[in-house]
Amino acid sequence: MFQQLMDSIYPEMAELREDLHKHPELSWKETRTNAVIIEKLKSFGIEEIKTVAKTGVVALIRGGKGPGKCIAIRADIDALPVTEETGLDFASENVGVMHACGHDIHMVNLLSAAKLLCENKDSFCGTVKLIFQPAEEAANANDPRGGAWYMCDEGVMENPHVDAIIGMHVRPSLDNPGVLGLKKGIVSSGFDVYRFDVHGKTGHGSQPHTGNDAILAISQLIVLLQQVVARNIDPLKTAVLTIGTISGGTAINIIPGEATCGGVFRYLDNESAEVIKEHTFDIAKGVESVSGCKIDVKALRGYACVDNDADLVDLACDAITAELGEGATEMLDHPESGSEDFSQYSITSNVPSAFMWVNAEPYTDSVYPLHSSKCCMKTDIIKKSAPAMARMAVEFLNK
Ligand SMILES: [Zn+2]
Ligand SMILES: [Zn+2]
Repeated sequence: MFQQLMDSIYPEMAELREDLHKHPELSWKETRTNAVIIEKLKSFGIEEIKTVAKTGVVALIRGGKGPGKCIAIRADIDALPVTEETGLDFASENVGVMHACGHDIHMVNLLSAAKLLCENKDSFCGTVKLIFQPAEEAANANDPRGGAWYMCDEGVMENPHVDAIIGMHVRPSLDNPGVLGLKKGIVSSGFDVYRFDVHGKTGHGSQPHTGNDAILAISQLIVLLQQVVARNIDPLKTAVLTIGTISGGTAINIIPGEATCGGVFRYLDNESAEVIKEHTFDIAKGVESVSGCKIDVKALRGYACVDNDADLVDLACDAITAELGEGATEMLDHPESGSEDFSQYSITSNVPSAFMWVNAEPYTDSVYPLHSSKCCMKTDIIKKSAPAMARMAVEFLNK
């Protein structure tokens, strides 16, 4: 349905991808990116375009067959604080910032799908909502919410109400590039951010019994927290704890009165989040009672697991096969351990969602993971992913 048109727009989109890659912008700073997206959408003849959540963009394509349902397609647009080391001639010109997570491809993928849909408006009823989301990488210890929260807070799932949402993420693959990976149920991990502030009592290093050692307490706390994963989570489910920061103490001969650490618990089912929270607080209480220190625990809910709707995945598989032929998709047998704020859209509005992991060929002979300074994938994956997503939208709206 879309292949011929995709081939004809590809050179323009490939050029745009290199431009976006050269000019990456960090979370919440995607002002140039916002302008480029809006200019492109206008050039397609799209009139209903809005800047949402500071640097995000939402646009509507109304089908020519009349009113109907609304499906949203989401792409994230931000880059990472990474110094690029790919050596490519379109490498980042913004020193210390890089599209190391492939969001530059996500943007041209959605722009391509938008163009395909604009040129084929008469083939569907209802509305396609294009969501270009900022700050997917923005989660931090103080605010573990990505741009999706802010887009939802500003009403992106309403006016018109979104009935389903689809999204994708590229990942580097040398084994089967070009294949679109789908899975029913959980496809990415959820996470929560924890911060522990341990308050003890300072004293002379030679007289530990006169103080309460915050560093000894925090050491015990960190070791015991691994027990949550080892002994409280069903082994047939999975969780992982990474304590990534620690600090404390002022001098080698002083019993440290203060220590702080922080980390992230990830899990593959949202019930495990509650188990983790309960036991984490229990462990902190236990360490308090043996150490004499006071431990403040701050738990912040981060991204939930992305949970693909089974019916929508079936529809996606059929639509992609109809568009690209047999063998274009694979059913994934396990989720990715990384996290995605895409989950926030379906949680906010309680609507079905489907998220694909799309295998894209890297420029290198070996695979560097997402977020690596050497991770860059070839644009030509959009020849498949953009028609696939446009077709998914059309099939959903016409069903
Ligand atoms: Zn990322
Ligand atoms: Zn990403």
